[in-house]
Amino acid sequence: PERPELEALQHADVARLLPRPGAESDKYRRGVVGIAAGSARYPGAAVLAVAGALRGGAGAVRYAGPAGRAVLARYPETLVSDGGPRRAGRVQAWVVGPGAGDDAETVAEVLAVADEARVPVLIDADGLRLADRDAVRSRTAPTLLTPHAGEAAALLGVDRAEVEAARLTAARELAERYRATVLLKGTTTLVASPRGDVPVRVNPTGTPWLATAGSGDVLSGLAGSLLAAGLSARDAASVGAYVHGLAGRRAAAGAPAAAHDVAEAVPEVWRDVT
Ligand code: AMP
Ligand code: MG
Repeated sequence: PERPELEALQHADVARLLPRPGAESDKYRRGVVGIAAGSARYPGAAVLAVAGALRGGAGAVRYAGPAGRAVLARYPETLVSDGGPRRAGRVQAWVVGPGAGDDAETVAEVLAVADEARVPVLIDADGLRLADRDAVRSRTAPTLLTPHAGEAAALLGVDRAEVEAARLTAARELAERYRATVLLKGTTTLVASPRGDVPVRVNPTGTPWLATAGSGDVLSGLAGSLLAAGLSARDAASVGAYVHGLAGRRAAAGAPAAAHDVAEAVPEVWRDVT
């Protein structure tokens, strides 16, 4: 029989995959996420990515970037490092790119540090534009790219309309070109694996209320915390999108929600998904 090209993530799978601490857990086992995001111009992206990571169940969040004061003002539990990613200490997954502006150096540093430590990296937003493709392709630990259609189009060198018209093809093509898992965001979010022989996952929980500034930054932190907890890139991406969609519905409930409301609604989703 032919393999299905697409599969929807099932509620039962999410319930099984959502990390929950056991008696033997400590913060390191729950997962330490490193966040290299934000800039003097876009400090809020750092705050929102940290929010997503904390609400996504990380044991600890280490922040390495120029928006440490803004991050600490909102989330005092964040471990802020002044010396950039290399001096951030032990991290089990990195998130790089949201609001990064033109800081290509930090993106390259995260890729190098994560390679040395053999830990997964999630690359979003400005990071997608700034990351060297060959550096991504040659990674030994998993990579997760989280573009929206415009970012995917820029990476593929095509028009946004072309991506929108053939989202499945675009997601697969990017996964192959970058040897990475690709979470292509949008009305229906897709997760394509660099392995060609597994179905592309479709997220069934999205809501157009998520079309609001900063909501993608929250997803980055959330999926990053799932990577740090030990989920595969494919599971972290699809469970992250699933939870993010439900949190968007919870936060909005038929009225506008801001991105930080989406992050704050994530714990309610954890309670619902049993
Ligand atoms: P970003 O473009 O990086 O801010 O991310 C936007 C987030 O909102 C992604 O998780 C998208 O999947 C989600 N989103 C945007 N528009 C829609 C829509 N019309 N329906 C469902 N989800 C959406
Ligand atoms: Mg974005």
